[in-house]
Amino acid sequence: MNQKKQVALFKKKHKIKVVSSKELIRALGDQGYTIIEYNGVKENPNVEVLREELNLEIWMKQSRCFTYQDDKYRLLFVQEGLTEEEQQIVLSHEIGHIWNNHLSKGCVIGDDVFQEYEANEFAHYLLTDRQGTIKRTRIVIICIALVMLLGTVVGVVLKNRHDEVVYTDNLYRTESGTKYHVRDCIYIKDKNDVYRLTVEEFNSGKYEPCEACKPDER
Ligand SMILES: [Zn+2]
Ligand SMILES: [Zn+2]
Repeated sequence: MNQKKQVALFKKKHKIKVVSSKELIRALGDQGYTIIEYNGVKENPNVEVLREELNLEIWMKQSRCFTYQDDKYRLLFVQEGLTEEEQQIVLSHEIGHIWNNHLSKGCVIGDDVFQEYEANEFAHYLLTDRQGTIKRTRIVIICIALVMLLGTVVGVVLKNRHDEVVYTDNLYRTESGTKYHVRDCIYIKDKNDVYRLTVEEFNSGKYEPCEACKPDER
């Protein structure tokens, strides 16, 4: 089967959005595989037992990563100290073997050239499909930007509504004065800097009625 399709199926089944070694290990866990780190030199006692029991010494010496499977075990051995990128590559390759059922007959890895080719192809598509991830990320960013923009627009509309000015009927002030007047008051009738008093200003208590034109009494 087309490995690009296999990768798509794999990612869908395991809900992998961004390929990382953590996500790949999670997917392997879903499939019943236990990850075992080895260093090829002095193993911890558990790994030592497996190495003896399953006769894995040669694999531990030669490989950075390999899968062992039989009726009893599903084990994925990964060498210690690999970088994130190296881990992604070797895990993707092993997942390629597992996903393509290369291990159904029993033990480990291939001398089988075709199987290695398939596993490599699988790994290739799994690790180069990041473009798709980037596209999705871009779409998410655009969506967030849109939401923020809409938020701004809504904010502006609300603010404008809030700022909608309501004027008093016939009260005026000068730019710097603290009194309000009627329009024909002697103090303001010849001035240019005369503004209609807003209801908000009237209610603010900052302005007092002019004593000359007595606007409150009209
Ligand atoms: Zn392989
Ligand atoms: Zn006045």
